[in-house]
Amino acid sequence: MNFSGRLAGLYGAISSCALRLRRCRCALVLLLLGPCLACAQTISFTFDDGLDPRTEPQAKAWNAMLLAALEQAKVQAMFFPAGKIVDSRQGMALVEAWGRAGHRIGNHTYSHASFGSKEMSVDEFTADVMRADGLYRNLPGWAPRLRFPYLKEGDTAAKRDGMRQWMRAHGYLPASVSVDASDWYYSARFVAWQKQHPDGDPAAFRDAYLAHLWGRAQYYDRLARKVTGRSPAHVILLHTNAINAHFLPEVIAMFRAKGWKVVSPVDAYEDPLYSMKPPVLPAGESVVWSLAKQAREPDLRYPAEDDVYEKPLLDALGL
Ligand SMILES: [Zn+2]
Repeated sequence: MNFSGRLAGLYGAISSCALRLRRCRCALVLLLLGPCLACAQTISFTFDDGLDPRTEPQAKAWNAMLLAALEQAKVQAMFFPAGKIVDSRQGMALVEAWGRAGHRIGNHTYSHASFGSKEMSVDEFTADVMRADGLYRNLPGWAPRLRFPYLKEGDTAAKRDGMRQWMRAHGYLPASVSVDASDWYYSARFVAWQKQHPDGDPAAFRDAYLAHLWGRAQYYDRLARKVTGRSPAHVILLHTNAINAHFLPEVIAMFRAKGWKVVSPVDAYEDPLYSMKPPVLPAGESVVWSLAKQAREPDLRYPAEDDVYEKPLLDALGL
């Protein structure tokens, strides 16, 4: 071999060594990242109820703030309006804005009555679902998914199973949640606090709210790992209310800062968790809560999320 041949050979050896070293480093990086990727949590955002411009002067502004926050953060959400709240020309315009912005619109019944009430029959409840269906079916973003009011899916086996059968027959998918929270209570307190402190700095309220959502997300994630052995693609239930209109950018940023990946509910609902139908009674709550009840997990709160758990905390903070 002449000199140039030896040089080429040497160069080849050095290159392949460098390549192996790079591969080696890649493998090391993957080895270090691997366990983190495997444990990275995923969350998606859903919003219930809708806003009524006939009774809420800030309905249009809050709706716009929620949509702007989602657009800015490049987050696709799912919206479940209740018919009685949005059934006006102005109210439906706010619903349609969600569909036009690329979000999905599902069904939260017309009257927002609890299927957990013993006075409510399957026939009465399904008629109420279909009344809302008629309002949304032709809107952009329509998705035939049912979000039960108060997450109550039936107080008897006959009602629970009758409703599951009706949904199958009518092409409706469930819109279960994994993470439930008390944003509705924080929002009511926030509105009252703002009235009393029109020039107050809302930072303390924001921090308490973020801590609440983070606490509930961690609780349901731990519970999911315990009863299913893994962290699912989470779906959180929030509402179209004042507190989310004000702090949704911070809520999304917080989850991302904690390392949680934000996905669309359409993607999250691909998780087999949401096809599970635990045979517990009363049926409903978070699907994780329901599975934990089926597994006879001790110390489960019922109702799972209520103001009685949050009132003392906000009282102590003077908020
Ligand atoms: Zn609701």
